[in-house]
Amino acid sequence: MSDRNFKVYIDGKFYPGPRAKISVYDHGLLYGDGVFEGIRVYNGRVFALREHVDRLFASAKAILLKVPLTPTEMVEAVVKTCRVNRMREGYIRLIVTRGAGTLGLNPNNCERGSVIIIPGPIQLYPRETYENGLAIITVPTTRNLHNAINPAIKSLNYLNNILAKIEALNAGCDEAVMLNAEGYVAECTGDNLFIVREGELQTPPLSAGALRGITRRVVMDLARQQGWRVTEPHLTRYDLYTADECFLTGTAAEIVPVSRIDGRTIGSGRPGPVTLKLMELYRNLTRETGEPIFPARV
Ligand code: PMP
Repeated sequence: MSDRNFKVYIDGKFYPGPRAKISVYDHGLLYGDGVFEGIRVYNGRVFALREHVDRLFASAKAILLKVPLTPTEMVEAVVKTCRVNRMREGYIRLIVTRGAGTLGLNPNNCERGSVIIIPGPIQLYPRETYENGLAIITVPTTRNLHNAINPAIKSLNYLNNILAKIEALNAGCDEAVMLNAEGYVAECTGDNLFIVREGELQTPPLSAGALRGITRRVVMDLARQQGWRVTEPHLTRYDLYTADECFLTGTAAEIVPVSRIDGRTIGSGRPGPVTLKLMELYRNLTRETGEPIFPARV
């Protein structure tokens, strides 16, 4: 199914993909003034839906954006969109924009926030990437400062990440490691980053500029259930280069092994045992839990 065959939810109504449109005066378009979530559907269930909705509301609160639905209504709207589209596997983009206003910056001229829910097919890396690992590089564009656009806000203004992505692609890599202004590792452009060192998992703290990733949280829980230590120290590029294993986590990409960083081979250069075990545990969990889309047959 191509992207455009899906029915898109806009403010309570469904539109066929090609006819799903928003106003040119929407501040989401004019200024990137809005927030979003990327959510996955596995096996007829929406994975970690309430957690995504909670993060969406936290992002909205941080930018003083009033969401026109309650969190429970938002959960229902996402499930309904999946049901209308008969989704069993896929991806959902949930967006709240500031809504239509004037050409000026003033958000008070926007009457009402708009809720948009766009279903799509799954976009994973090719299978070889999961089998062999990804080559990534650190890029010159640093992660947004907390006192500029706080990286914890999942806003529609993703230019910081897009610039980093362009720098990685120009260098022949699919992902970029973004450092913060102090030179510590923050995250990648659309994924959190983990390393494994002597059986311990390490991932940058949120204060280093990492998004509070939901896959990050799930992976930390799964690792602790295995009895593995998980810490959140500040990491430098040296820590990445000398790690035993490295992997990325994100809703769309899931868990992606990293084989090379800045031309250095990580560990054996193959996905390591901790990464492989977590990939297996994550795969099982996503297929077994989540908000059911279709009523259970009696
Ligand atoms: N960092 C950034 C910048 C992201 O956009 C994402 C994807 N939403 C992530 C990390 C991973 O977060 P999650 O596991 O919640 O998808």
